[in-house]
Amino acid sequence: MKLQNPVFPMFFILFLCSVSILASTALAQQQTNITIGNNESFTPSTISLADSSNTQFNYYPVPGNASGPPVPEKGYVVEHLGDGLYFLGNGVYNTMFMVTEGGVIAIDAPPAIGDKYLQAISEVTDKPVRYFIYSHTHKDHVGSAHIFPDNATYIAQEETANQLSLANDSSRPLPDITFTDKYEIRVDNEPVLELDYPGVTHEAGNIYIYAPKQKALMFVDVIYPGWVPFDGLGGSENVTGFMDTPDEITNNYNVDKFIGGHLTRIGSVEDIKAQKEFILDLKSTAQQVIKNVSFADIAKVVGPSNPGNPWAITNSYLDEMTNQCTDELADKWKNRLGGVDIFLDDNCAAMLKSLRLD
Ligand SMILES: [Zn+2]
Repeated sequence: MKLQNPVFPMFFILFLCSVSILASTALAQQQTNITIGNNESFTPSTISLADSSNTQFNYYPVPGNASGPPVPEKGYVVEHLGDGLYFLGNGVYNTMFMVTEGGVIAIDAPPAIGDKYLQAISEVTDKPVRYFIYSHTHKDHVGSAHIFPDNATYIAQEETANQLSLANDSSRPLPDITFTDKYEIRVDNEPVLELDYPGVTHEAGNIYIYAPKQKALMFVDVIYPGWVPFDGLGGSENVTGFMDTPDEITNNYNVDKFIGGHLTRIGSVEDIKAQKEFILDLKSTAQQVIKNVSFADIAKVVGPSNPGNPWAITNSYLDEMTNQCTDELADKWKNRLGGVDIFLDDNCAAMLKSLRLD
């Protein structure tokens, strides 16, 4: 069973994937029809951005708990978290920056916010940006890191520094300061920001950034306040580390405000606990599904019509487990977390993969 109305048809998702993979071929050959295996014919199309009434892209309504403050026309929201710490978000990406006597400490710089980051800072202070902190390397969060003054000091965990060095990307300047486990930024000998590397979760080098006075914690691409995680358990390099994160946070930090790098609003400790509950539910459901679904049974059904094709059986086996996991959890979570109709199946698939392989 899939979520009832509105549902984004799986066929269409597959279709878009097929189109994107094959688009270059199509353009080169100036054809409108692409033939792939099994003689299925697909007609490539593009999303009509002019047609805002296109109901094909209507998703399940966003639950109240997943909604955030409206984003004004200028394109971003700035919220004071106390003692010079500010939240900055555009409804999809978010980060924070700190204003101190000696200048501004900027954290991350999503290109989706871009130069508006400087505009947002100028709304609350005329002090220059003196420090910049990388949460991790991913361009969608730090691809505008170059917008700050040349004399600003850039800080990153050493794994992040290594990956930035390999990337050799002028939009992500190499850090001036690196650290292995912990690093503190102090003002008048008081720690104002504490950086801590917990090991690999979403990406090697991904750090906690904690403002102790404001009890504000930033940790990007792992906890999703009010929403199911992004595709594939937030694209985790290490699913075990990803799953351990909610407990790590609640055991080690006193958190009033949580900034996750994405989505609609500032999170709370309740959001961190809700993600733990969701992940545990996902894990136990996936464990049960692995017991329920038999590769041999799938082979009996799929094998005869696909002789000599083990991938056909394997794919059907994986799909069946993903579908059972999604069906089991969808109704339970669709009014509690946003995006259940969008990324629950991808998170089921990632959990099943981790349980089978890790
Ligand atoms: Zn990331």
